[in-house]
Amino acid sequence: MYRVPNIDFVTKHDICIGCGVCQNACPQNAITIDVRNGMFLPAVDNVRCNNTRGCHRCYDVCPGLGINLVDCAKQLYAGGDVFEDKFIGRYIQCHTGHSTNEEMRYHAASGGMLSQILIWLLETGKIDGAVVTRFDTSAPLKVKTFIATTKDDIIASRSSKYAPVTYSQVIREVKKATGSRYVFVGVPCQIEGVRKMMAKDQRLREKIAGLFAIYCSGTRTFYFTEYILKSRNIDIGNVDFLSYRDNGCLGGMVVKGKGIDYYEDYQSYSNPLRTIFYPRRCLLCADHFGELADICFGDIHIKPYSDDKIGINSLVVRSRYWNDMLNEACSAGVITLDTLDENTLLASQKMAKVKKTRNITFCMLNKKLGQPVPEYGTLYEAKLTCKDIINYFRMSVERYVGRHKLLWCVIPRIKSKVKIK
Ligand SMILES: Cc1cc2nc3c(=O)[nH]c(=O)nc-3n(C[C@H](O)[C@H](O)[C@H](O)COP(=O)(O)OP(=O)(O)OC[C@H]3O[C@@H](n4cnc5c(N)ncnc54)[C@H](O)[C@@H]3O)c2cc1C
Repeated sequence: MYRVPNIDFVTKHDICIGCGVCQNACPQNAITIDVRNGMFLPAVDNVRCNNTRGCHRCYDVCPGLGINLVDCAKQLYAGGDVFEDKFIGRYIQCHTGHSTNEEMRYHAASGGMLSQILIWLLETGKIDGAVVTRFDTSAPLKVKTFIATTKDDIIASRSSKYAPVTYSQVIREVKKATGSRYVFVGVPCQIEGVRKMMAKDQRLREKIAGLFAIYCSGTRTFYFTEYILKSRNIDIGNVDFLSYRDNGCLGGMVVKGKGIDYYEDYQSYSNPLRTIFYPRRCLLCADHFGELADICFGDIHIKPYSDDKIGINSLVVRSRYWNDMLNEACSAGVITLDTLDENTLLASQKMAKVKKTRNITFCMLNKKLGQPVPEYGTLYEAKLTCKDIINYFRMSVERYVGRHKLLWCVIPRIKSKVKIK
C-alpha cells in the first residue's frame, strides 16, 4: 500500500523552498529548519515523526509540491467584477502607486507602498500585526521573519531580501497571539504554503486577515550575498548594515560597517549572477505575481514609469475588501493610486510569461526524467524544445558552481559580465 511520505521526500528531491510551513504544521514538533547548502531546509526527527502511523501533515501543506493555482484562485476570488488572465491570475484591478512619504519611497524596494500600507493598517487598528522579514541581528546576512506591530518594526523590515526567508516558528506565534487580524507578507510560493496550511488549520484561518505577495522572478541562496561580498573584498564579519535595494528606484546594494561604506547598482551586482545562486525549485515555479495573495506588489520598469527615480510600484489586487482598503488609504493621503492596464503590467514583467512557459517545460523535462516536480493541476501551453533542454542543463551546471564554494573562481569565466572588485 502506498504511504504518503513526509517532508524528507521534498528535501531529498530538491524541490524544497525552505518556507518552513511544514515546521509549523507538524503536530509532533518533529521538524526543525536550519541552514544547509545556503538555504533553509527542514530536518525531520524520525523518533518523533508519526509518518509511519499515517501522519503526513508536513507533506500536505508543502508548497514545494505545487498547488492548483487556477482552481484555488477560483474559490478565493469570484464574482462578476473579477477578471482572469493566464499570466496574472484572477484580479479585480491593477494599479500603479507609491507611498506619499518620500523617505519611505527612497529606502524601500520599489515605491514603499507595501510598508506604507502596513503602517497605515497598524496605526488605524485595522490589523493586529504583520509577518515581515528583517535581517537577523544575531546572525549577519541571515534574515528572520517576525510579527511586526509597530511602525518601527515595519521600517526595520522594508526592502527586498534576495536571500532565503522562512516562516519557521512564526506561524505558530501567530496562532498563539492574542489578536485576530494578521497579514502575511511573502513571495508567491510562501503565500501558497500559507494557503495550503489555512485549508487544514481552522485556528490559522481565523487569525489571518490578508495575504500580501511580492512578485518574484526567483530568489537566491545565502551564497549569493556571500559571493558578492567576498568578490568585493568586503569582510562579512564587519558588516553592520546591508540593503539589497536602497537609494531610490531599483537602487542598489548598500553595505555599511567597520571601515565599510559600499554601494553598487542593483543591475550591476545582481543580473550577471542570477541563475548561479537560484534554488532549484525556482526554475520549476509557475507563479510570478502571487496568484493566491489578496494584494501583490512589484516594480514597474517600463516607460514612462521608469523615468521616476525615487520609486514606484505596480500592484495586482484580487480581493474586493483589500481594494477598498487601498482606496481608503489613498483617500487618507498615505499612498497614491492610479489605474494600470494589464498589457502594460505584463510588458513590464517578462518573467511572468517565462514562468508559465520555460519553467513549465523544465517541469516537463524533469518529469520525463522521473523526477518529482511541483504539480499545478493545470495544463499550461508549453512545448518542450531542444533549446529548453540545453537551457535547463546550462542552468543546472551554473547552479552546481554556485553551490560549491571551491568552484566560485570559475564564475567570472562562465559569466563574463560578473564583476570582481
Ligand atoms: C526574491 C525577489 C524577487 C523579486 N522579483 C521581482 C520581479 O521580478 N518583478 C518585480 O516587479 N518585483 C519583484 N520583487 C518585488 C520587489 O523587489 C518589491 O519587493 C516589491 O515591489 C514591493 O516593493 P515596496 O517598495 O512596496 O516594498 P517595501 O515597502 O520595501 O516592503 C517589502 C516587504 O517585503 C518583505 N520581503 C522582502 N523580501 C522578502 C522575501 N525574500 N521574502 C518574504 N518577504 C520579503 C519585507 O519584509 C517587506 O515587508 C522581488 C522581490 C524579491 C524578494
